[in-house]
Amino acid sequence: MNPQVESLKKPSEPKSETRRRSLFLKGVVQGVGFRPFVYGLAQRYGLKGWVNNSSAGVAIEVEGKTEAIEEFTAELTRKTPPRARIESVEFEDLNPVNFFSFAIRPSTEEAGRYQLISPDIATCPACRQEIFNPSDRRYRYPFTNCTNCGPRFTIIEDIPYDRPKTTMAKFIMCPACQEEYENPANRRFHAQPNACPLCGPRIILADSQGTPLAVRDPITEAIGLLRQGKTLALKGMGGFLLACDARNSLAVQRLRQRKQRPAKPLAVMLKDLATVKEHCRVEAEEEKLLQAPESPIVLLPWKEDSSIVSGVAPGQKYLGVMLPYTPLHHLLFRESGMALVMTSGNRSEEPIAKDNEEAFSRLGGIADAFLIHDRDIYVQYDDSVAAVVNGQSTIIRRARGYAPFPVRLPFSLRPILACGAELKNTFCLARDQYAFISQHIGDLENLETLNHFQRTIEIYQKIFRIQPELMAYDLHPEYLSTKYALSLPGKKIGVQHHFAHLVSCLAENGREGPVIGLTFDGLGYGTDGNLWGGEFLVGDYRSFARKAHLENIPMPGGTAAILHPWRMALSYLYTLMGQESALKHLNLFSPGQGEKIRVILQQIDRRINSPLTSSVGRLFDAVSALLGLCPSISYEGQAAMELEMIADVNEEGAYEFFTTDEDGKEIIRLRPLIAGILEDLEKGVERSVIAGKFHNTLIQIAVFICQKIRDEGGPKKAALSGGVFQNRLLGERMKAALEKAGFEVLTHRLVPCNDGGLSLGQAVIAHFSEA
Ligand SMILES: [Zn+2]
Ligand SMILES: [Zn+2]
Repeated sequence: MNPQVESLKKPSEPKSETRRRSLFLKGVVQGVGFRPFVYGLAQRYGLKGWVNNSSAGVAIEVEGKTEAIEEFTAELTRKTPPRARIESVEFEDLNPVNFFSFAIRPSTEEAGRYQLISPDIATCPACRQEIFNPSDRRYRYPFTNCTNCGPRFTIIEDIPYDRPKTTMAKFIMCPACQEEYENPANRRFHAQPNACPLCGPRIILADSQGTPLAVRDPITEAIGLLRQGKTLALKGMGGFLLACDARNSLAVQRLRQRKQRPAKPLAVMLKDLATVKEHCRVEAEEEKLLQAPESPIVLLPWKEDSSIVSGVAPGQKYLGVMLPYTPLHHLLFRESGMALVMTSGNRSEEPIAKDNEEAFSRLGGIADAFLIHDRDIYVQYDDSVAAVVNGQSTIIRRARGYAPFPVRLPFSLRPILACGAELKNTFCLARDQYAFISQHIGDLENLETLNHFQRTIEIYQKIFRIQPELMAYDLHPEYLSTKYALSLPGKKIGVQHHFAHLVSCLAENGREGPVIGLTFDGLGYGTDGNLWGGEFLVGDYRSFARKAHLENIPMPGGTAAILHPWRMALSYLYTLMGQESALKHLNLFSPGQGEKIRVILQQIDRRINSPLTSSVGRLFDAVSALLGLCPSISYEGQAAMELEMIADVNEEGAYEFFTTDEDGKEIIRLRPLIAGILEDLEKGVERSVIAGKFHNTLIQIAVFICQKIRDEGGPKKAALSGGVFQNRLLGERMKAALEKAGFEVLTHRLVPCNDGGLSLGQAVIAHFSEA
């Protein structure tokens, strides 16, 4: 978004020869080399005056020739330092006061004001050169940084962003570092994490118990361990990562066993772009994304002949790849040339570990050794995950490099806390035009993650000076985020899950609606007490109507049906095709489960612990299990993902469906779909063809329903939201098909389409509510 440049008051007199202009800039303008940039610019145009940081932004006064001042103002927003993001510029022209020189004045603090904080930034090219230059004083120094790169958000304890309020406070700069820090012409001028081997943090190699090892060179030693197939816990920017050799099957297997993560895809870090291209196909947009300062994990098409072992991402067509983003990574890779698995340092679904002692106790049974350092991490966050979808970079997990930069909305919000959902939780704190969406918190299913959630809310409230007057929560009564919201004092509003998805997509696109929201996901609590997830809603920021949905199917055993997709398959068969057909096809997915099946059919009949669901995610599960792909899962979305991966992208056929009207709602009936799949299975049709036809059917359903809604006077715009749209085959083709049918289609780019983007929608709905 372009900054708003706004003149507060024009000079009353006609253009005079010299004048003074006072400017105020908001945005990410601190800790990114902005004052030296202003200083240099003022010098270049021969202007006198001053610049300083305040709690709300950067203030400037310049005095000189009118033309020079105009050009200075234009350059300010045109040639900003790489990591600065200017949100707005206000200026006012005044009478000259004859400044003597141009000065950088001390920072000023104003109570209650806040500023945007830069996310952490991948090592810049200049710093990279220094650590590989044997004659540089930072040669091989793993904590090299400057105003264009290095840690930011992870080390900030409070604002204004100055060294005493960061975890760097305990390191006293040596004279050489101090000189850089004070010199406006230096690229380390006011670089708060500035450090060198003499005065800054150090790395230590420790054994699996956390006892420091007396080694000459911890990095070389760590590389040796990785080469032997050991698992290394590595303290990084936002927390600990677990690393092992991605070309060693045994090493990968061992890491999976210890981390209790049997199948979920792991990310890899590779030395450079050339190495990435050995393993993956990379388009120009993806190259840009890989090398961006945010340095996310990018999902890339994985080459058949890659030497990275299949156990890294079993059954996947895509591999999550990132490039080194700290000096320590660069050193490890330059000197080893290895391909490394890099996954969050946690046990299964707990939050990422950030402190040394915590890591020793939590990762002790997983890591063979620890590469740690003595710079504390104040705020932890995971690596972000992104992909290029429809030619645009799209966030799937929003954390390092992105948070806490807000989404800017075209309207001003009251102070609101939206608590998000349960899985892939994020929260959103809003004020003014900003929606501060937290980094990915994780699945709120255990105490550790709940504590992480609460602590991070407190940090955001403190740093952005937000006292929420309204709390938004999901309608699901069992979500820990819901219980947390309800335990707070003050006004609250419950927001339906899929309505929040729809509004999240509208808001990040800066649109108001109304729109047809196709919200396809795993589950969300509906206003009728059923579990929704295959929804066609028509809505805007204020309200929604449920126009159509998949027919309701029992989920026998509740959570058990999520963990064991074959239960969903059985339920679909039994509910839609009848007992005879169900029993006839049992061999498809559940060899030797006779007794269990009898119990499940009873559960369905008597509606015992069998909530009804219209979820597309559960339909994916059922089809996946019918094809024998994934009778049970070990991570969320596994069955659906495996079905996407085998689908024949050249298949053009589809299955039948029909709709019925129920109290003005279209109910999408799926009996012909299930019957068609069974028929194909009997005929011995390839599973890849069946999976392809299944995807096409969903696309035809979407176009059919949207056209019907439009024909009845509904919107000509559609918004795609919900975790199911992480399926690129489905998402890209559905968008194209709807566009071909004359719809404008909105999708997510800035926040995830999954529940990680939900809090944004909740916040906007709360703002426009009567509460
Ligand atoms: Zn740098
Ligand atoms: Zn130093």
